[in-house]
Amino acid sequence: MSDKKTKKERKAEANRKYYLANREKKTKKRNRTEYMRKWRLANSDYQKEWRLANSDYHKEYNRKRYLANKDRLAEYNRETSKTWYLNNKDKKFKYNKIYNLKNKDKIHEYRKVYQQSEVGKKSSRISRWKKYGIKDFNIIKYILSEKFPSLGTGFYNDNFNTIHRIFTIQKICSVCYKTFDTENQIDWKCIDHEHQNGYMRRICCNVCNLTVIK
Ligand SMILES: [Zn+2]
Repeated sequence: MSDKKTKKERKAEANRKYYLANREKKTKKRNRTEYMRKWRLANSDYQKEWRLANSDYHKEYNRKRYLANKDRLAEYNRETSKTWYLNNKDKKFKYNKIYNLKNKDKIHEYRKVYQQSEVGKKSSRISRWKKYGIKDFNIIKYILSEKFPSLGTGFYNDNFNTIHRIFTIQKICSVCYKTFDTENQIDWKCIDHEHQNGYMRRICCNVCNLTVIK
């Protein structure tokens, strides 16, 4: 008669033993948690007072907890708001409509300020470029100057942020070398791009963009 047990059986037995030994402990713990929860609800003033008396500690504790769970929290918030939006699209639409009507002047004022700010200008420029068909490839081909190709034919990394940075830095037209004059519409900066694929080619003045390059 063999009394040998397989590894799996031994493990199951051990688990069972552990469960039986700790069952009571677990229940106790659960009861205690429940008891504390009830106590906290019944004595909410005590908690408030404690927080006020130990506000520095409380702030520090919350900050630490927030930092430790930042990513998880952000992910959770993103997911929940997304699901909520998908389930309540009509509600949201109605709410927005009412809000917009109620706050018409405020929104108008806010938009005016935003459009004149640097962030607003950048955003409207980028959306204009998108409309023209300029693409934010992983790499963009960029010519700073045809006269001095060594200066600036290069590949720049990524996205509209980079394109916009170059756009704001450049002070002269890549074709006629005139200094850009933002007051005068003729000398406005333009992005010349390849129409087949949306590659940005160069930054030039309005005149050069319309006449010289086709
Ligand atoms: Zn020019």
